[in-house]
Amino acid sequence: MRRKGLASMAVQTFATPTVDLGPAAALSCRECGHRVPLGPVFACEECFGPLEIAYDFSGHDADSLRKRIESGPASIWRYAPLLPVPADVADKPNLNPGWTRLVKADNLARELGVTGGLFVKDDSGNPTHSFKDRVVAQALEAARAFGFTTLSCSSTGNLAGAVGAAAARAGLRSCVFIPHDLEQGKIVMAAVYGGELVGIEGNYDDVNRFCSELIGDPAGEGWGFVNVNLRPYYAEGSKTLAYEICEQLGWELPDQLVVPIASGSQLTKIDKGLKELIALGLVEDRPYKIFGAQAEGCSPVSAAYKAGHDVVRPQKPDTIAKSLAIGNPADGPYVLDIARRTGGAVEDVTDPQIVDAIKLLARTEGIFAETAGGVTVGVTRKLLENGVLDPTLTTVVLNTGDGLKTLDAVAGTGLTATIRPNLDSFREAGLA
Ligand SMILES: *Cc1c(COP(=O)(O)O)cnc(C)c1O
Ligand SMILES: [Zn+2]
Repeated sequence: MRRKGLASMAVQTFATPTVDLGPAAALSCRECGHRVPLGPVFACEECFGPLEIAYDFSGHDADSLRKRIESGPASIWRYAPLLPVPADVADKPNLNPGWTRLVKADNLARELGVTGGLFVKDDSGNPTHSFKDRVVAQALEAARAFGFTTLSCSSTGNLAGAVGAAAARAGLRSCVFIPHDLEQGKIVMAAVYGGELVGIEGNYDDVNRFCSELIGDPAGEGWGFVNVNLRPYYAEGSKTLAYEICEQLGWELPDQLVVPIASGSQLTKIDKGLKELIALGLVEDRPYKIFGAQAEGCSPVSAAYKAGHDVVRPQKPDTIAKSLAIGNPADGPYVLDIARRTGGAVEDVTDPQIVDAIKLLARTEGIFAETAGGVTVGVTRKLLENGVLDPTLTTVVLNTGDGLKTLDAVAGTGLTATIRPNLDSFREAGLA
């Protein structure tokens, strides 16, 4: 009942017809379709289902939209006509994330036996070195539209940094919450932007629960939690991964995508983005398969997939892939739907396999991924070995973060030799 009270209260307080979030027309319930005006709400007042953005995309013809996008800025804002943001968003102070490189990974393809074209979408190239800048940029615009003065979140690490940086650039206060035992790299990357960073004694699911409590309390008034009360806006940022991949492939759908799963939001919105491109006539409609990737130490969605279940049973995470360590993923059931509907699958890999995959990607393509990238590359390898991924089809693997943030994962990697500064010593070490 508390959630219901919260949802309706927020609608009355904030939703005004003057909010300009571009083509975003309303919020609509993913379960029952109930529509409410745009506002900082995330749960349906009828059925408690998650709300998402409903758009009005009328008035676009495919050719002029494609031209407009191609002549747009080299950031996610080239897709502003398809996002819940005002048309002049690129002129506002923000981090301008996105338009990261799509690397044709021929060396990795050879190693893995992929002949149909293997690509790595390398989102480590974002301003705070993870894909989270895409989603935070949407939430920032929603926060501005609803008049929030503090930007906040519950985070497994990358989101905290992305929120801190975006708030700094936009001139907002930030106060973010993380599990207290995160990697040092993630803590520094989140703290350096000068906002408040609070460690919670507990795991991510505890942090998230605490944030939900704070939203319902006067202490949280004026706070925009990017992944809680601004979640419907935040989530849309992941569509830009789908848009970019297709545009970079020459406005074509890939056949197969391998996507990491934390809450499952990214995977579900990549699917939404692909469907929009088809509906708008920007790409030709043909089948694509979406594969979800988890670490074995936090694999609630993979476990449900393999057991043939529709519901996801929560787990207590224990893995080096901390950015994906959400034991109770909000979008888990939707991920299962998408994997099954598109003919994909959900798979998981062990921590040693994650480390091997990080090194494999680095060695073959010169891309240093964080543990989440080790998860997707490791799962790609496993799915190929099991005959689930088709090596003759175009495949895009996502790397969503930078290895510099998770150095501990490859801690054994170091000097080949230590020598005295002379040639004899060099020869003795067998390096000549
Ligand atoms: C947050 C995150 C994801 C995906 O998270 P979802 O909650 O599933 O959207 C993937 N990779 C990295 C590195 C992340 O930080
Ligand atoms: Zn509903």
